[in-house]
Amino acid sequence: VSGVLVLAESRGGELRGVTFELAAAAASVRDQVGGPVRVALIERDPGRHTDALAAAGADELLLVPGVTEHLEANVTARALEMLIDAEQPALVLAAHTVDGLGVAPAVAARRGLGFATNVTSIRWDGGLVARRRASDAGLEEEVALPGDRPALLTVRPGSFAAPAPARAPLPPASRARERAHTDAAATEHIGFRQPAAGEVEIARARFLLSVGRGVGDAEGVRRFEQLAGRLHAALTASRPVIDAGWIPRTRSVGQSSRAVKPRVYLALGISGAVPHLAGIRGADTVIAVNTDPEAPIFSVADYGAVVDMFELADGLTRRLDQTGDSVYSNGSPIS
Ligand SMILES: Cc1cc2nc3c(=O)[nH]c(=O)nc-3n(C[C@H](O)[C@H](O)[C@H](O)COP(=O)(O)OP(=O)(O)OC[C@H]3O[C@@H](n4cnc5c(N)ncnc54)[C@H](O)[C@@H]3O)c2cc1C
Repeated sequence: VSGVLVLAESRGGELRGVTFELAAAAASVRDQVGGPVRVALIERDPGRHTDALAAAGADELLLVPGVTEHLEANVTARALEMLIDAEQPALVLAAHTVDGLGVAPAVAARRGLGFATNVTSIRWDGGLVARRRASDAGLEEEVALPGDRPALLTVRPGSFAAPAPARAPLPPASRARERAHTDAAATEHIGFRQPAAGEVEIARARFLLSVGRGVGDAEGVRRFEQLAGRLHAALTASRPVIDAGWIPRTRSVGQSSRAVKPRVYLALGISGAVPHLAGIRGADTVIAVNTDPEAPIFSVADYGAVVDMFELADGLTRRLDQTGDSVYSNGSPIS
């Protein structure tokens, strides 16, 4: 029993970014766990991702052509079990995503693996220790995984930084092995329903302008929506603003909604309650604007201003009017 097996994710023929985060998580304990990092991709045509996956830093790729174009939980779970039986990894990593959660618990239960969900970090202390979110109210838990049996962890997206692409691809011989698999699908994919036009995937946006209850009302939100558009930022909000119905739920940030990891998170009129802060841990830079100098958001902010958010909006709007919307000195807005 050795090595780490990563379950890659793809959707609609596209590799998902969380795959590279899983590879980073695997690399962080590779030396202690011992053995290679293998990345498994189970989808209709996994070969199309060989180069991208090799750049993720895997020692070996295990390609299992699936019978379905879209994730089918039964097929993927059975294929993953086959790989676990064949490779005997000490650690299996899947994403704590809708797809990962459709597969991982069944595999862990059927194979009797040590199991932890919602993992945000992994360390080695004579054995594997995983830190995980244990509740929606910010409670965290550390669990030790017994060394006498393999473990399967679902890793929360945004918890590990994806590695920079490897300089040289892996040598072809160790690059990819194809495994046959023939389990039948137990469901049939009918179709996806896309979110309404104009919606953005906030977890991927690089610049978020986020409003809290300080925005006052729906009219206030429209004001900041315009400002966000001119700044090339995506508009997000804290829960009260979502619950009031002023912004669609897909824009909600926090532990019970979405974790985000933008380069810049501009928090306007947000107090910084623990459930909200849990969602912005992955932000590179947090800028907080609040009229209350004691607001907890300032304790996590890289930059802060005790100022009325509407005054700030006026000032920024004036500046945008003067500069013809190019507020960035190098002319390359963050988007
Ligand atoms: C189980 C559970 C899960 C939750 N999950 C989430 C979650 O996922 N995401 C989330 O956001 N919340 C969540 N919450 C709610 C969370 O606890 C807070 O209530 C919420 O984050 C507070 O939102 P807020 O900061 O916008 O509002 P408030 O806490 O009311 O803060 C408003 C802030 O605006 C400032 N302000 C007012 N006027 C202005 C102005 N003109 N200019 C500048 N500043 C101004 C005030 O000083 C204040 O700091 C959850 C709660 C529970 C119990």
